[in-house]
Amino acid sequence: MDNIKYDKIAAWKVVYNNLKKVLPGHAIHAWFDPIKPISFNSEVMVLGVPSQFFLEWIDSHYSDHVQNVLNNIYNSGVQYRFIVQKSQPEIIKNESIEKETPKKSTSRFNNLNSKYTFDKFIVGDNNEFAKTASESVSKNPGENNFNPLIIYGGVGLGKTHLMHAIGNSALEKFPSLKIVNITSEQFTLDFVNSLRKNKTIEFAQNYRSADVLLIDDIQFFRGKEQTQEQFFHTFNVLHQSGKQIVLTADKFPGEMKGLQTRLLSRFQSGLSVDVQPPNFEVRVAILLEKAEQNGLTLDYSIIEFIAKHIKNNVRDLEGTIIRILAKSSLMNIEIDNNLVADVIKERVGNDFGNDVSIENIVKKVSQLSKVSEKEIIGKSRKMEIAEARQLSMYLCRDIMGTSLMNIGVYFGGRDHTTVMHAVKTIDNKKTTDIKMKKMITSVRQELGFSFL
Ligand code: ADP
Ligand code: MG
Repeated sequence: MDNIKYDKIAAWKVVYNNLKKVLPGHAIHAWFDPIKPISFNSEVMVLGVPSQFFLEWIDSHYSDHVQNVLNNIYNSGVQYRFIVQKSQPEIIKNESIEKETPKKSTSRFNNLNSKYTFDKFIVGDNNEFAKTASESVSKNPGENNFNPLIIYGGVGLGKTHLMHAIGNSALEKFPSLKIVNITSEQFTLDFVNSLRKNKTIEFAQNYRSADVLLIDDIQFFRGKEQTQEQFFHTFNVLHQSGKQIVLTADKFPGEMKGLQTRLLSRFQSGLSVDVQPPNFEVRVAILLEKAEQNGLTLDYSIIEFIAKHIKNNVRDLEGTIIRILAKSSLMNIEIDNNLVADVIKERVGNDFGNDVSIENIVKKVSQLSKVSEKEIIGKSRKMEIAEARQLSMYLCRDIMGTSLMNIGVYFGGRDHTTVMHAVKTIDNKKTTDIKMKKMITSVRQELGFSFL
């Protein structure tokens, strides 16, 4: 019995499975999948991690979780210890570039990208709901309340990925489903061609016989009245016969301009879910995954460096990995901090490292609050202006730790007690005022400080 009890691999598996119950998937993937059990006895479980950075991170972020799980399993007070086990040196598989860049692998009939699956989709707070809803739709297409399902959000945040994942997964479960997957531009083109060739009936039949209709980027229907008309009828036919419709868009449907109101009101009968930019930890998890997919082992300090500077979207993160790989193998140089810094500078341009300043904070607040920068640093006591000013002061303090006095000087020569009052006011407001909380999050995110 003792043999089983102290079998390090089996024991680690139990701990791992219990951690899975309490930590989000991306954390498990980034920080626990790479762990190798080294030894285990009645007192300590020794766990190998790939680098010092990794060790410090996991120790400072997850040590309580690990210890709690151990306490739950072994009442006897088993402790754990991490040690660094150097992984193999950086491996760059040159052939992976050639392998990855040519055309996307797609299934033959429905041009679904077979790489866009749920298990390759990394989940964080920013996209968890969208993924859950998508999975649920793929399990019972048409037979749920999420019809249409609309996935919306900025570029490169995984909308197309999720939509294809719905198609791929539904097809796996129900191989005979007819899935029609198309971008709104292709739909438009198809329609225009059918008009030209007098084949509108065939056009309509093709779309209306779908079991699952996936249309990407419906914002491009904007201003195309006749196409919208066609889409409206197709939508109704499918919806009434309980077929699943999934759409993606760059904005919340209610805020979309140039789409007919009757269409927008149809959309309300379903569910709209958003994808947001990933926070720091999710970016780390995505980078680890993308590096692995490309056969690249990067030092954790490099991963952290990239995640700190490339913040906007997943496509950029992916592009950065590919660019690093390409640069290193084409120029035949090692991947080190310099190379990575060069690539990042290329990608973020002048914003590199100097995007955080009082000016920039005021600018962002001005954009969000619609109060001009001049007013923010001016004297007016009008409520919305004073609030934008207080918010800017709060963020300077919060993000940069600027002294109260310096903040006061910048904002029109106010004294430090005024600044202190402003910081306190916003600190209180952010717990009750959702709009305020959103603005804070959004400025922090844009400046790359959402992770602090
Ligand atoms: P969008 O349609 O929102 O512009 P895409 O779905 O095309 O974005 O995503 C851009 C790239 O980033 C794709 O290669 C996709 O696989 C990848 N990607 C986006 N989100 C994630 C995620 N959460 N996990 C893994 N890869 C992602
Ligand atoms: Mg897309």
